[in-house]
Formats: sequence, structure tokens, C-alpha cells
Amino acid sequence: MRSRTHLAFGFLAGLLSLNYIRPSNYIIYFAVILFAALLPDTDHPESNINKKIPVFKFFSYIFKHRGFLHTLWIPLIVFVLLYKFGYYQYGIAVAVGYGAHLLSDSLTKAGINFIHPLKQFRIQGFVETGGLLEYLICGLVIVASVFLLIL
Ligand SMILES: [Zn+2]
Repeated sequence: MRSRTHLAFGFLAGLLSLNYIRPSNYIIYFAVILFAALLPDTDHPESNINKKIPVFKFFSYIFKHRGFLHTLWIPLIVFVLLYKFGYYQYGIAVAVGYGAHLLSDSLTKAGINFIHPLKQFRIQGFVETGGLLEYLICGLVIVASVFLLIL
């Protein structure tokens, strides 16, 4: 999916997470979520995050697109590390943003393997990346976020 869709999913997931967590700083919490929502695509040389922050392009030379960086291992490792060093809230924020990215990519035809390289646990949907359906889904996610903000 495109980065704007990942940001929309990340923002909605962040709003939903507020039912379970009260961050000490909402701005930093959501900034971490949105940043984490873009991180998995550092494995793609032409991704938006790699264009904006070229140093991340390094990952695209090491990992294949939708390989290891598109698994549950990364947010799990980051969460444990942040938790261990006392940044529990930001560990949650990374898990929320990263998880939103993985879930939204699992809606695409290419899908992702959540536990690569251990086994095949590939989930794939029917959405064409950059297609009309993705734009519709992105719009629905934004509308849902606005409703959550209003209500
Ligand atoms: Zn992705």
C-alpha cells in the first residue's frame, strides 16, 4: 500500500489504542505511531520514507521487500527493548504503528508473511497497491478517524 494509506491506518489504530493507554504526551505518541507506520517499507528502495530519509535506504539492500521487515518480529523486538529501558508507552506506539502497516499490507494481493522466515503464515487480500480500492479504503479509514475524533 501507499504511504498515505499506511499513515491513515496508523492514525486510526492510534486513536483506537487510546481506549487502552493514556500517553503522557499525545504528540510524541502519535509521531512515533506514524513514523513506525512507515518503517516497514524501508525495505523498498523507492518507498516514500527512503526518499525522505535516504539513510534508511540501507535496509533495502539487506532485506527483500515484504520480507523480514514486514514481520511481527521487528515491533516485538523494539517493544521489548523500549519496555526494558522504561519507554513502555513508546513501545506500544511502535507496535501500534508497525502493526497497522502489517495489517494494511495484508489486505493487498501480494500479502505478507507475518512470521518470515520461520514458516509460511502468509495473509493476502484482494487490494491492488495504488489501485482505486486502496484509495476508497484510505478514504474510509480517514472518515472513521474523523468520526472517532468527533465522537
Ligand atoms: Zn509495506
